[in-house]
Amino acid sequence: MAGILAGKSALVTGGGSGIGRATSLAMAREGARVAVADQTEAAAAETVAMINSSGGQAIAIGADVADEAQVQAMVARSVAAFGRLDCAFNNAGISPRHVGPAGQRTHEMSRESFDGMLAVNLTGVFLCMKHEIVQMLAQGGGAIVNTASIAGLIGLYSASNYVAAKHGVVGVTKSAALEYAQDNIRVNCVNPGYIKTPMTDPSMAERYDQLMTKVPMHRLGTPEEIAEAVVWMCSDRASFMTGASHVIDGGYYAA
Ligand code: NAP
Repeated sequence: MAGILAGKSALVTGGGSGIGRATSLAMAREGARVAVADQTEAAAAETVAMINSSGGQAIAIGADVADEAQVQAMVARSVAAFGRLDCAFNNAGISPRHVGPAGQRTHEMSRESFDGMLAVNLTGVFLCMKHEIVQMLAQGGGAIVNTASIAGLIGLYSASNYVAAKHGVVGVTKSAALEYAQDNIRVNCVNPGYIKTPMTDPSMAERYDQLMTKVPMHRLGTPEEIAEAVVWMCSDRASFMTGASHVIDGGYYAA
């Protein structure tokens, strides 16, 4: 397929839902062969079926990004299928409600809730980068995009575990960008604001009107609006971009 990712091979984590699914579809539309990974392989397989039905090329991989052996195997399967790894979108993530009750302030949060969040949203990104970079060094380059959040740049109430993890993603992105700038490997992160996905839907309903007063565009973003930027950041058109945090939030961070 022609497109700005023509001839490239990509890996997307959290590709069975939300931003990861939209980005997998957009990458395929732009010509990439896509390894779609998710902790639930069936969800990844649904995304793959969508890609294949549009004439794209994709495989599904089941992997938990918090488990290093599974991450290593995920990268190996992706490379075995497509021969190389040009673009990696480390996007799998969870929200605070996955690891504890909603609405907890810092002094109410359990150690398990904090550690459980970091394991997926920060250590998961580190583990993916680690194994992807080994392959990218061997083949002479690549582009990595990590999913941070506006929560990687500002504080949010009742989410100190999530905010800590996302600030960490911004940090490891910057360090890796410096370390591999001479190796033709670019490392950036995308920082979405409030996006309409299964992760946000349950919590949004209760406080939608209040939240939207803080967003200058007065609406949620779509997964497709994040995908467009990620595709570009992975492409050779973003050739001088590394170590950057790219905010896409309808103006929230600027307000
Ligand atoms: P989503 O629709 O829930 O998608 C997240 C995907 O990641 C799901 O398929 C989920 O699987 C998978 N996942 C969770 N834990 C995993 C693990 N340990 N290993 C592998 N896969 C795992 O949510 P989303 O909104 O698209 O979120 C994608 C990323 O964007 C996350 O990093 C999130 O923090 C970030 N983000 C989202 C927003 C927003 O407003 N939606 C804003 C800023 C940043 P299950 O469905 O089985 O849990």
